[in-house]
Amino acid sequence: MRRLFAGLALLAVFSGCFGARDSTPPKVRFGQEACAECHMIIDDDRFCGALLGEDGVYLKFDDIGCMKRFEDDHRWASRPGWVRDFVSRGWLKKEEVYYVQTKNVLTPMGSGIAAFKERRAAEDFAAKESGPVLSWANLKGGKNERVR
Ligand SMILES: [Zn+2]
Repeated sequence: MRRLFAGLALLAVFSGCFGARDSTPPKVRFGQEACAECHMIIDDDRFCGALLGEDGVYLKFDDIGCMKRFEDDHRWASRPGWVRDFVSRGWLKKEEVYYVQTKNVLTPMGSGIAAFKERRAAEDFAAKESGPVLSWANLKGGKNERVR
């Protein structure tokens, strides 16, 4: 009986760590945690993101550009990731998002990348701020200077 209980407890731990983890958005303690790429404190909830490492721990980023650069540099494209919706400030899966990249938007590290859940919102924003609507795959990390 004791063994069965231990087995069940272990199962619960494992399903907590893996099964649910990919679909559970990260929690960011704003003003306390640092970006995994540039090490600046994350304090703007409009532009942050997170990638799930193989160890089940989220790496967090203050700017979607930092996250993209980290992913490219470390070949983490297949890892689950989340970004913030510029409109609702809710978490969205990185592949299910419309991105607008424009030098008119000041993001923490200057990538100028904002994320949108709705295509319409992204297109409106893109027209207003004169930038392209991009997918995660087409996005370039880094600062605006590197994009142009
Ligand atoms: Zn950063």
